[in-house]
Amino acid sequence: MADITLNRLAKVYPGGVRALHDLDLTVRDGEFFALLGPSGCGKSTLLRTIAGLEAASGGTVHIGDRDVTALQPGERDIAMVFQDYALFPHMTVEENIAYPLKVKKVGRAERAAKARRTAEELGLGPLVERRPGQLSGGQQQRAALARAMACRPRVFLFDEPLSNLDARMRLEARTFLKKLQRELGVTTVFVTHDQAEALAMADRLAVMESGELRQVGTPTEVFRRP
Ligand code: ADP
Ligand code: ADP
Repeated sequence: MADITLNRLAKVYPGGVRALHDLDLTVRDGEFFALLGPSGCGKSTLLRTIAGLEAASGGTVHIGDRDVTALQPGERDIAMVFQDYALFPHMTVEENIAYPLKVKKVGRAERAAKARRTAEELGLGPLVERRPGQLSGGQQQRAALARAMACRPRVFLFDEPLSNLDARMRLEARTFLKKLQRELGVTTVFVTHDQAEALAMADRLAVMESGELRQVGTPTEVFRRP
């Protein structure tokens, strides 16, 4: 089971900005959970703290029954996809996908095989020798997804992964991403400021404001008219 459980999770940045106010939340195993809210409300901070890219100032993060608060990012069994994809420009698609496996000290042959298989799964087979600069936005987005999937993580964290795509590709990517998440059954937290996107994709969502979770529920519960 890969529930994500936050217990009084707090983040205060050096300088005193309180970005997260003692958050309690459970994202269930296999769930697609959207985090919706305006710029500056703390969405990225929450994702980065779950991922271990920021240290929590208080509280805990559990993945399943394991307290990951003290673990390094690489030990948390989490993959994160960023808004700007963060692909390495000097590496080929295959090398990009294989990179996290290299970090985990998987051997060269196995790395290449896994990277190729993941590329095939995402329809990137013919593009593995290209560099990110030779891909369209949608293809870069898939390459970033492939890199996240290559380690078969228990948790996906997405920080506005579709916001740099044009409107048509964004719709396509929504469907694709949702289908992929279903098939893999990976517990997913998806940050967006786009209400329609959250509505279309999420099993449940939270509306975040000033470092607090104001409303948590299914799209119908959250957006039901009073
Ligand atoms: P969002 O992702 O919703 O746009 P952020 O998590 O980026 O929000 O930011 C939440 C708050 O924390 C904002 O007030 C922001 O200015 C502040 N913040 C974010 N990162 C840092 C940082 N590294 N140092 C100091 N303050 C930060
Ligand atoms: P977001 O997409 O979360 O709104 P931003 O563009 O606000 O991202 O922030 C980009 C980077 O700058 C992040 O790494 C964030 O942590 C950092 N950052 C954001 N606000 C501040 C701040 N007030 N002081 C220092 N760093 C910040």
